[in-house]
Amino acid sequence: MNLSETWWTRQPVKWEIPEPDPETVCSFCHQQKDKAEIIAGPKVHICLDCASLCTEIAAEREKEKREAAVKEMLKIEQSMPESYQAADLMYRLYDEGYRKEGGQ
Ligand SMILES: [Zn+2]
Repeated sequence: MNLSETWWTRQPVKWEIPEPDPETVCSFCHQQKDKAEIIAGPKVHICLDCASLCTEIAAEREKEKREAAVKEMLKIEQSMPESYQAADLMYRLYDEGYRKEGGQ
């Protein structure tokens, strides 16, 4: 009997790789993690490592926003007349939209 001619040798070999539980796969880095290391959102999941990275990125962007705002405020300060009073600058900054609440 020639084994190479038997029916089972002609069957395509299918490797069954089990699909990971989508709730354990991070939508950002696509790594499979322990469920305790995943935060679930609507149709997305983020692992704690990626969440931590996002926090760093958010802090960096907030820092850039702050620096840009201070740069703008310094421009305003430099455009004030020589003999301005502190309150004049504060009114000007307020009028330009720099407020503690309510945004710009
Ligand atoms: Zn991740």
